[in-house]
Amino acid sequence: MTRVIYLDYAATTPVDPRVAHKMSGCLLVEGNFGNPASRSHVYGWRAEESVEEARSQVARLLNADPREIVWTSGATEADNLAIKGVAEGATRRHIVTSTIEHKAVLDTCRYLEGKGFAVTWLDPGASGVIEPDQVRAVLRPDTLLVSIMHVNNETGVVNDIAAIGAVCRDAGVLMHSDAAQSAGKLPLDVARMPVDLLSLSAHKMYGPKGMGALYVRRDPPVRLTPQMHGGGHERGMRSGTLATHQIVGMGEASAILHREMETENARITRLRERLLAHLLQVPGARLNGDRARRSPGIVNVGFAGVDGETLLLALDDLAVSTGSACTSTSVEPSHVLRAMGVPRDLAHASLRFSIGRYTTEADVDHAGRRVAEVVAGLAGLRPASGA
Ligand SMILES: *Cc1c(COP(=O)(O)O)cnc(C)c1O
Repeated sequence: MTRVIYLDYAATTPVDPRVAHKMSGCLLVEGNFGNPASRSHVYGWRAEESVEEARSQVARLLNADPREIVWTSGATEADNLAIKGVAEGATRRHIVTSTIEHKAVLDTCRYLEGKGFAVTWLDPGASGVIEPDQVRAVLRPDTLLVSIMHVNNETGVVNDIAAIGAVCRDAGVLMHSDAAQSAGKLPLDVARMPVDLLSLSAHKMYGPKGMGALYVRRDPPVRLTPQMHGGGHERGMRSGTLATHQIVGMGEASAILHREMETENARITRLRERLLAHLLQVPGARLNGDRARRSPGIVNVGFAGVDGETLLLALDDLAVSTGSACTSTSVEPSHVLRAMGVPRDLAHASLRFSIGRYTTEADVDHAGRRVAEVVAGLAGLRPASGA
């Protein structure tokens, strides 16, 4: 079997062996398997100690207070808790978000729309960026919350959430950002960014799947209505027995990124530029999204005149992705690219390449050559009339 090169780090990352090692210490009978909520014996105390160490590790990555970190099952749950948790019981009824958000934000806002909230959906320009002035222009006296993602998972484009947060702070509006693609990849400092809520996902940062966190600012305090009721864990904000092994995994993953992010980013950015140089030599290739304002590891390139599904099938030794979603009747091109005004055909012919910790120079060189080869082959197949 030919090796399939993994270039889909934005979909998920493998677990770092150092993280796996830490996690495996929290499973077996001779390990740290206790329930962190058990107050009456050393098994519980030890587990709680590990959970709190991990909380500090995640907090350090954001320059936050550990008491501002709430464990969740992932960024999807963190997005739900942030948005519904703020909305429930609030008297203001207007929410601002964008059309390029992850489904976890889009669908949560759509749900609230159905419950009578007014939602303003901002479209990015061709750059794929949501600008602070766009947000400022749509704020109303009854605006409760702005939710704008930090790094877009399909294009890698970065929104200036510090500037958007400042606009919100000035207006007395809460600001949430889905930072699943930026935590550990871009500097995040909540002491300098006026952002009230941040969603994180462990499996985008070399930690386990099914694990995440919500940063909830303490000063000025954010009032959240819990979405999960039960034992009152996590200061009442999210009940449920804490998944010690997952939590220590996210903590260790955060500690590694805190130490290594700078050197890792330099390496990944170099590889991304190398890959992009290959891809942009392909006739008809076009980078989707802003050239400069982008996170290290993600590029999205359209190949004019080629069918995306055919391209993907032909690239059978590369694990890359399209942003398309299958509905019952058709394949819909990425909602993000469409929102940026990318024509339907080109959106269909666009691929996301995302690189990460285990990507090598040989991987990106191979990928670049393969794409060039396959696109040239497919272009040769097109009828001369070219319609
Ligand atoms: C992956 C991702 C999510 C979902 O995170 P889960 O932990 O898988 O629930 C949400 N938002 C963005 C931007 C993502 O990339």
